[in-house]
Amino acid sequence: VGFNSQNSFGFSLLSSGSKANCTLVTDSENSFLIDAGLSCRRTEQRLLELGYAMEELAGIIITHEHSDHVAGLKTMIKKYRPDIFATHQTAERCDLLDYDNLCRFSAGEQIELGGFDVETFPVWHDAAEPVGMVVSKGESRLGYCTDTGKVCPRIESKLRGLSALVLEANHDLDLLDQAPYPERLKTRIAGEHGHLGNLDAAELLRVLARGDERLQFIIAAHISENSNTPVIALRELEQAWAASGGWKETSFFAATATAATPLFQIRSGLSLENRQEAAGPIDVEAGDNEAIADPKQRERA
Ligand SMILES: [Zn+2]
Ligand SMILES: [Zn+2]
Repeated sequence: VGFNSQNSFGFSLLSSGSKANCTLVTDSENSFLIDAGLSCRRTEQRLLELGYAMEELAGIIITHEHSDHVAGLKTMIKKYRPDIFATHQTAERCDLLDYDNLCRFSAGEQIELGGFDVETFPVWHDAAEPVGMVVSKGESRLGYCTDTGKVCPRIESKLRGLSALVLEANHDLDLLDQAPYPERLKTRIAGEHGHLGNLDAAELLRVLARGDERLQFIIAAHISENSNTPVIALRELEQAWAASGGWKETSFFAATATAATPLFQIRSGLSLENRQEAAGPIDVEAGDNEAIADPKQRERA
């Protein structure tokens, strides 16, 4: 994959959902993972499909200690000894404090990973020290915000001026109500330290749309298989964006656990003058979004 400009980079959600989360961020020189929720073998496979290998990763940044974000970590460490970036308390919960290649940081700190700047921010989630982040290289900025019960003004301000946004759209409230979960779990999921529902995600997009944010990609992520579907999540987000006058060139996509998303390429240097021109064909093949409406997937979701 060619990233023709110094400031352009790409990302692919290798897996996203309540079962396993893992995202590749890459430019022409360096790559890293956000989270390691897929098994090591699955991660190797999905990286390979995109032309990447575990050996070439500059590191893995962990958002928090829940198993859907770290399930593959132990094996990866054994096999590859990668640099692991984690907050102090996440590292402690993952038993990483004695690991030689651990790079600890505090939620809210900015770190450098493989030539990328990663600005972390605390999120609202029932984990020890969970973070979201903005990955940037020059003018290109990718926001990553999942596993948070709400988007407070502080997080909202972090998610301004982005080129792309991976945003949790975990549940539909009606489907959550009907889901085969104990009441306590439903309350936890919908609570302030749980997961961001479609409505909350849509509300954030309304705010960003009204602020004339020019997002090239908005990816619905961490979609629950029991209390949401990719179709419903996408519909909510797209409608909110369009109804609030959101940029017409924004591409939407729903990430799932079934397969890696395409490698989305962020185009850098989208100034007001050249935005129109740059908003040409994207690197996602036409019809990819249709694939989500596949009835088999809908059944599973
Ligand atoms: Zn979590
Ligand atoms: Zn999670």
